[in-house]
Amino acid sequence: MTAKRTRLSKFEFAVIFREQNGLCKCGCGLSLEGGQIDEEHTRPIGLLGDPKPDSLWRRECHKRKTKDDIARISKAERQGLRTGQQARRARNGPKMKSRKTVWPKRKFRSKKDQSNDRE
Ligand SMILES: [Zn+2]
Repeated sequence: MTAKRTRLSKFEFAVIFREQNGLCKCGCGLSLEGGQIDEEHTRPIGLLGDPKPDSLWRRECHKRKTKDDIARISKAERQGLRTGQQARRARNGPKMKSRKTVWPKRKFRSKKDQSNDRE
């Protein structure tokens, strides 16, 4: 269940921009001006965040954060027993299942058969 992403209005953008003093939210101390600005959710939507962006990031910092977020979201899913080894065991039981052995249809040839071939 993922909430729909929404975008900031011009007004909301300006309010957040002022709150951050025109600086990137990640704490790198660089100005947002003169580069690409991304709207960002402090709490990722994947982790039940608000669908409304609430911070402004420089494009490069944002890329880095998104990568971290993806890692955090997949970790949360593992811990929520949706994916991963524990989840698989909960579904399928603790034992590994071996595949059915398929024996060859062709019979092994005896030494006698092989000597007949040579003649
Ligand atoms: Zn930054």
